[in-house]
Amino acid sequence: MAFDSLSEKLQNVFKNLRGKGRLTEADVKAGLKEVKLALLEADVSFKVVKQFIKAVEERAVGTDVLESLTPGQTVIKIVNEEMVKLMGSETTEIKLRPSNEITVIMMTGLQGAGKTTTAAKLAGKFKIKGRKVLLTACDVYRPAAIKQLQVNGEKQGVEVFSMGDQNKPVDIAKAAVEHAKKHGMSVVILDTAGRLHIDESMMEELVEIKENVNVDYSILVVDSMTGQDAVNVASTFVDKVGIDGVILTKLDGDTRGGAALSIRAVTGKPILYVGMGEKLSDLEQFYPDRMASRILGMGDILTMIEKAQESIDEEQSKKMVQKMKKNQFDFEDYLESMRQMKKMGGIGALLSMMPGMGGAQMKQLEDAVDEKKMARIEAMILSMTVKERQNPSILNPSRKRRIANGAGVDISEVNRLVKQFEQSRKMMKQMPGLMGGKGKFGKKG
Ligand code: GDP
Repeated sequence: MAFDSLSEKLQNVFKNLRGKGRLTEADVKAGLKEVKLALLEADVSFKVVKQFIKAVEERAVGTDVLESLTPGQTVIKIVNEEMVKLMGSETTEIKLRPSNEITVIMMTGLQGAGKTTTAAKLAGKFKIKGRKVLLTACDVYRPAAIKQLQVNGEKQGVEVFSMGDQNKPVDIAKAAVEHAKKHGMSVVILDTAGRLHIDESMMEELVEIKENVNVDYSILVVDSMTGQDAVNVASTFVDKVGIDGVILTKLDGDTRGGAALSIRAVTGKPILYVGMGEKLSDLEQFYPDRMASRILGMGDILTMIEKAQESIDEEQSKKMVQKMKKNQFDFEDYLESMRQMKKMGGIGALLSMMPGMGGAQMKQLEDAVDEKKMARIEAMILSMTVKERQNPSILNPSRKRRIANGAGVDISEVNRLVKQFEQSRKMMKQMPGLMGGKGKFGKKG
């Protein structure tokens, strides 16, 4: 899939950042250097990478971040926010004129970028909105292109306007708009000719169409697989023809992702849609925030971080970590941590927001931390006396039997709980890095 390699590298960097309880400026800088390399390897433009890292660094090395409860998470959050900004922050939609007027959309791009396919995909989108769309074959150099548009138009149930290959593209475009007017159509999509490379006569042809037909949107279709080349092509189109937006195709392939990340910053033009496959339904609206989450392999981790930040009581957490370190973590703390977890929406809600938590893994984990089971654990702890909660070692068989009766569970379940509790206690002691153990809360004294 697209971005796999970039995503994997970034996740490794983040794992390192998250793993440290406390971050120094040097840690952050080292992490960002890795991010920089990963972006360059993904073919993101050098200038864009430099600006991006600078923006993240300016925000990330401040004391607020480094002294926060979760510095690693906060740095990741900043990377994410800057990445969203890089891709344009907001979703830009193609705004059609009212249906009694004609909106003209001109598709431009190099040969093979996906213009003809994307023109038909777009036509389908507007048709669903109730528009009468006219697809227009302005590529007079490749008879096969006209045929391809006709085939796709038919599949979409959209009329295709063609005058063969003996007329000038600008004349075909003008005639198509007239045809649309006469037949009460409201969207005209012009499929223009591409070339293998940037070429003066191609640009002139497009400019001529723009000068003679009232084009509302010039859309550049670029193949995301071509990385920085795509970005260079886009810059030339911006300068020579003028474009209003970009559609990135073939994001379903294993593109390294550079084009998606650089194009907005380099051209100043928004990405409108992304092509996600060869089928005519495979065109998706572009959401910078979702794309960033995907690149960062984050699932909805941001919502999770925000929730955690809102619900975790810092004082309480400090105390708890201290107790874990000293092996004094008791059933009262266990109860408290369960309650904090609940405040964050329960373990199920949290897990569903974790990155990489797909179907099967999710199911397994949900089973393991069944919320009904949690409710029974809570009942058992509540059936203990305060003394028992604070000194689990006094739990003899007769006390356990009383607790089992109180909670309405079998005594074997109480045994299991106590055993698990002892095990977790041992584990906590062995994991000094856990929950900032090495950080400011883990310091002695
Ligand atoms: P044009 O020369 O710019 O008109 O490009 P075409 O529309 O003919 O597309 C070139 C090739 O790319 C065709 O085989 C399309 O099926 C394929 N293609 C276009 N968009 C996508 C996409 O989003 N994903 C994939 N996988 N293939 C695409």
